[in-house]
Amino acid sequence: WKHAPATFRALLETSRFHGEQTFVVYEDDRLTFEEHFRLAATLANRLVDDYGIRKGDRVAIAMRNYPEWIVAFSATLAAGAVAVPLNAWWTRPELEYGLSDSGAKLLIADGERAERLSGCELPTIVARADDANWAKVIGEVSPGVTLPDVEVGPDDPATIFYTSGTTGRSKGALGSHRNLGQAPMTVAYALMSSVALAGKDPAEAAAVRRVTLLTVPLFHTTGCFAVLMPTFFTGGQLALMYKWDPKRALELIEREKITTMSGVPTNAWQLLSHPDFGKHDISSLTAISYGGAPAPPKLLERITELLPNRTPGNGYGMTETTALAVYNSGRNYVAKPESIGLPAAVIDIKVCDPQGTEVPVGEVGELCIRGPIVIMGYWNRPDATAETFVNGWLHTGDLARLDDEGFVYIVDRAKDMVIRGGENVYCAEVEAAMFEHPAIDDAAVIGIPDDELGEQVGAVVRLKPGASASAEELQSFLTDRIAKFKVPVRIWFRETELPRNPGGKILKTHLRRETLGL
Ligand code: ATP
Ligand code: MG
Repeated sequence: WKHAPATFRALLETSRFHGEQTFVVYEDDRLTFEEHFRLAATLANRLVDDYGIRKGDRVAIAMRNYPEWIVAFSATLAAGAVAVPLNAWWTRPELEYGLSDSGAKLLIADGERAERLSGCELPTIVARADDANWAKVIGEVSPGVTLPDVEVGPDDPATIFYTSGTTGRSKGALGSHRNLGQAPMTVAYALMSSVALAGKDPAEAAAVRRVTLLTVPLFHTTGCFAVLMPTFFTGGQLALMYKWDPKRALELIEREKITTMSGVPTNAWQLLSHPDFGKHDISSLTAISYGGAPAPPKLLERITELLPNRTPGNGYGMTETTALAVYNSGRNYVAKPESIGLPAAVIDIKVCDPQGTEVPVGEVGELCIRGPIVIMGYWNRPDATAETFVNGWLHTGDLARLDDEGFVYIVDRAKDMVIRGGENVYCAEVEAAMFEHPAIDDAAVIGIPDDELGEQVGAVVRLKPGASASAEELQSFLTDRIAKFKVPVRIWFRETELPRNPGGKILKTHLRRETLGL
């Protein structure tokens, strides 16, 4: 069992083959695969020996994207415990919710998060308060260190990641070692198909060591399972940033010769629109991919124009699918920019009506997914688990349709639909039409309660700096593009950025509350 495949411990042992290669770069810090192994193994032993952590105990991690996050995560899993990454943007009450909901026995935090939780009674390891701290915490790292002796199998729980909380309170998604082991394989298949679909030479592509810029938080599954784990698994290199900043990203691409950038669509959009774009040598970049939120087809147009010969990719996934599940890239993506592509080889999908019956091709229903990347269930939430995971199928809450070649199109979230007089209006469709207007910088469509129709369509927009457009102008622009009943009857203009979570998703509940007082 100690070396059972599909456990994190097996991945960690295997990573030593990459020895002195650089694994993680952060500012001026560089961590090799061997250094990472020794730090993680040393900390894992301390968790067991000094903190009494046993198999299945939960260890919370509350940190920015520091190298210490990765060591803390690896050590927790190597000790047979369950890692609970908490959102670093959370306020104190939110962090306390994560700690109590998960029943964490120990917290590993950076200085800022530890400060935010000061006085909290949970034993806490402060991993990064100043540069010297980490060494003090871990103690002496011996070259001969081995992993603590714990039996871990593929069906043991490994992680609790909190969902983004876009549609309600974040839920803890309980993932197994099998899920975790499968995630980098899923990404590897997607990458192989990308190379082929981009018409590139597979041998040449395989010869390039991938250096990836991580633009999203590690506490969301995209960062951890679609970026960190594949890098770890394939011996690539990961460049971390304290926080996303397009200017800094351009500098890093040049300095670290980044080959791949992965994140959310907003990252790619902001990189391409930055005034410094063009001032840096970014010729090392071969692929730019994103996911986790709807990607406007305009983004692909921009990439094709500004970054020709690079492979763009759009991935669909969720916390409940251990990140990536459906992927579109290369010539498929260019041919069908509105689609999220084809399902990963390891999953089955179906599109169903509310009774769970498959709908005919081309019709809209709920996307359901089955396979080894689907998590075990929600932590401590039997009702939500029973509702979402039915007979082995994950009900995603996303409305989708398939075309006759099996490509998947996300129409909207089931919960992000305005029902106007019985007619479904998909917010995503109206937003996409609004983005076509040159003055629009950002837009979100929301439902306005209406006595007669149930709901009316409303929109909140932010204009580009210096641009102007009236509500009437925008409405008449939209009337040419979408059916009259979908055109927002009220448009609110906003000076400040629309509220988004770290995953780039607009927080409509906030927006509704702010705009309509609901
Ligand atoms: P919560 O479940 O707590 O309300 P959330 O669903 O936003 O929050 P995540 O698991 O981070 O939490 O996000 C998954 C969702 O993101 C998917 O269900 C889907 O709605 C959306 N999504 C992910 N990738 C894409 C994509 N490529 N295109 C469109 N939508 C996407
Ligand atoms: Mg969700």
